[in-house]
Amino acid sequence: MIREIVKVGDPERERILRRPSKAVRHVNQSVRALLKDMAETMYAAPGVGLAAPQIGINKRIVVVDVGDGLVELVNPEIVEREGTALDWEGCLSVPGLIGEVERSRRVRVKGLAADGRPLWIDAEDFFARALQHEIDHLDGVLFLDRARTVREAPKPTPRVVFFGTPEFAVPSLRALLADDITVVGVVTQPDRPQGRGLAVLPPPVKVAAREADLPVIQPASVRAADALAAIAAWEPDCLVVVAYGQILPKGLLAMPRLGAYNLHASLLPKYRGAAPINWAIMRGERETGVTVQHMVSKLDAGDIVRQVAVPIGERETAGELHDRLAEVGARLLVETLRAVFAGKATRVPQDETQATYAPLLTRDHGRIDWARPAVEIDRLIRGLNPWPVAFTSAGGRALKIWRAEPLPGAGEAAVGAAPGQIVAAGEDGLDVVTGDGILRLLEVQGEGGRRMAAGEYLRGHRLQAGSRLGE
Ligand code: ZN
Repeated sequence: MIREIVKVGDPERERILRRPSKAVRHVNQSVRALLKDMAETMYAAPGVGLAAPQIGINKRIVVVDVGDGLVELVNPEIVEREGTALDWEGCLSVPGLIGEVERSRRVRVKGLAADGRPLWIDAEDFFARALQHEIDHLDGVLFLDRARTVREAPKPTPRVVFFGTPEFAVPSLRALLADDITVVGVVTQPDRPQGRGLAVLPPPVKVAAREADLPVIQPASVRAADALAAIAAWEPDCLVVVAYGQILPKGLLAMPRLGAYNLHASLLPKYRGAAPINWAIMRGERETGVTVQHMVSKLDAGDIVRQVAVPIGERETAGELHDRLAEVGARLLVETLRAVFAGKATRVPQDETQATYAPLLTRDHGRIDWARPAVEIDRLIRGLNPWPVAFTSAGGRALKIWRAEPLPGAGEAAVGAAPGQIVAAGEDGLDVVTGDGILRLLEVQGEGGRRMAAGEYLRGHRLQAGSRLGE
């Protein structure tokens, strides 16, 4: 059972720490139970030792673990000392302070083990210091009484667990590490078949995490008990989520004391969902941005902590915008976490009435409807580059369109022509009639071929003025 640790500050409680403790007469069952509670209490707290008075028990019993295993001692006594050493130490009963204390560098301690048998321990350096500190407690002495100087303990840096999967999340992970934020573990999606050859590849975040020697887990479901246990074992103070690809359960969001934060590639509440960058271009936005939200169980509906607007370039593709937002977002994320850690982050609820959605893309989103205006088709092509790529059909076979540009003016050639009809074909490209204006195709990719300039494509394919696309 974990016991409450008595702390200095309240004079009534402090008296417990200041009275000398009594020797144990028999190492019996109740003493062993007490030792067990003391060890459990010590391990649950950020300490390397604990004396019975610290949990309000007036007995000469201590436990110590400096990393080499648990040492339990009843009626400990220092019988030999050698040398001196000056160093800083702290105490679970004196939180927030450390003191510079001179101790013996080596000690021999005599006492009784948990089974009641006599025990001698030879200790040096940090282990010797810990034993002297704990034995002092049995005489009502605190390190404060011996310290040459006392100062505020450095605050432990918050422990972050990072959730992310694709390229978009890599600059964020790297920015956290570059800013000396303590990332204690990384959660990413399992390795999956990718690309044309369907080779099984690790997610980009896994590669980056391994380069930084960070522990990585790849649960098929983050809701599984073993995944949650692995994350809990990292003892996170804060979760950071960047394009992870799984919904985090409520219990996980509530686990860390500083909360969970998500970097989303839009100006929330606009473009909630899986593909905000693509949809912002496809819908003709002039600006988008990045948002860090405090996560709640409803997807992308958390309070906004920080937000930055980013203009969309007139000819920009989703791939280009993705790379810019990943960098801007990484900087925003670090800035936000610094504010959260300093207790200076504010939260603004999202305006639900302004929410729009950016659903997951499928290949079918890329089918070009030539009856739409040229500017709209151009946005579709840019918004789906590099994935899934807009397409039409030419002579019954699929034709991917990588790059195009709307031509100014309606174009005389378009008069009387049906949408999808080619009105000019040459080195400059393929001019196609749309519902409003001409769209010039600049870079295309035929079925089974590579992407190439439209002029080059024309040399190998029989497409000419009068042919019709998308039939
Ligand atoms: Zn102490």
